Amino acid sequence: CAAAPATTAEAGTEATPKTERRKRVLSGVQPTGSIHLGNYFGAIKNWVKMQEEFDAFYCVVDLHAITAGAHDPKELIKSTRSSAAIYLAAGLDPERSNVFVQSHVSAHSELCWLLNCATPIGWLEKMIQFKEKARKAGEDVSVGLLDYPVLMASDILLYNADIVPVGEDQRQHLELTRDIAGRVNNLYGGGKWKKMGPKGSRAPSGRFRGGDILRVPDAYIPEAGARVMSLTDGSAKMSKSNPAEGSRINVLDTPDEIAKKIKRCKTDAVEGLEFGDPTRPEATNLLTIYQLCTGMTKEEVLKECGSMRWGDFKPALTDAVVEHLSPIQARYAEIMQEEGYLDGVLKRGADAANEVAEKTVADVRDAMGFMER
Ligand code: ATP
Repeated sequence: CAAAPATTAEAGTEATPKTERRKRVLSGVQPTGSIHLGNYFGAIKNWVKMQEEFDAFYCVVDLHAITAGAHDPKELIKSTRSSAAIYLAAGLDPERSNVFVQSHVSAHSELCWLLNCATPIGWLEKMIQFKEKARKAGEDVSVGLLDYPVLMASDILLYNADIVPVGEDQRQHLELTRDIAGRVNNLYGGGKWKKMGPKGSRAPSGRFRGGDILRVPDAYIPEAGARVMSLTDGSAKMSKSNPAEGSRINVLDTPDEIAKKIKRCKTDAVEGLEFGDPTRPEATNLLTIYQLCTGMTKEEVLKECGSMRWGDFKPALTDAVVEHLSPIQARYAEIMQEEGYLDGVLKRGADAANEVAEKTVADVRDAMGFMER
């Protein structure tokens, strides 16, 4: 398994000779519902490419999934298994990537608590996603929702991840992760990072310096165009938590469901299709989905579809989506049928993850002055 991390280079200090430590990547999707084209093109498909080059840790972030408030336990377990199976069906190879469930590694919760106590509450109250989601949740907003970015920081920092592939929507959370790591290093690791940032305001990325406890990660924003928007409102992102089922195409949707959703999706009365017109976000979005599913360039898409009417383009788009998703769906069915396979992969993934995570959390406990066990 690709775990292979606890080498001498694991610590990554300046004193450590440059050995074969591959850069490490970590990412995850919340099992808050069915995985959709946005999660797939914005995250999972890139993970598959990255597993070739990086020491990869990909988790189903089930602890994050409950931050939205009361949830249905049966749905959570179903969605967790299904998400993990989609990771594999989409091409994550358990021989190359550590695929696991976040709650199977208890260090995520423990580090989150330790980081909570080093994070000023004002940093969290400024998070745009918190403000947006809290507005919707009203009085039901949970402490967990406010704390979501600290849990995300724990996920990343536990594995000393060098890079974190995130969509634009998560960029602010990643900046916060960098700030939290810098603060912990500063408070408990000898304060070296502060002197090196511009005006001491930001933690520099990359390797540890003497005294640092946590590695400061870099964001990796995937190629432009991987952001997929809602089918009912081309200017909002496609999302699991949107109550309108017709706003997203799920990776496991049947051809019929896909055809119906595309037939009903919002369009306009303008003739011809084009990318990038700010007054026609739906046209850009549907052309982008077509481009992503076919692997064509923008120019090729425009050559083929630019002069089409919506009535001709929609069936072509349906075919492209169905064609792209059907091998993934077939593999998914096999995975779900193979008794014990998924559990075995997740167990091995969690074992490898635990090995790395336990070491990091022990370092943080140590640095913060907790008595040895
Ligand atoms: P929720 O609605 O529950 O917040 P979500 O569908 O927005 O969920 P997340 O689980 O928060 O998705 O995100 C998992 C990953 O998928 C992240 O890397 C995120 O950037 C990416 N992602 C989510 N939605 C989109 C989208 N519409 N386009 C591109 N990437 C996306």
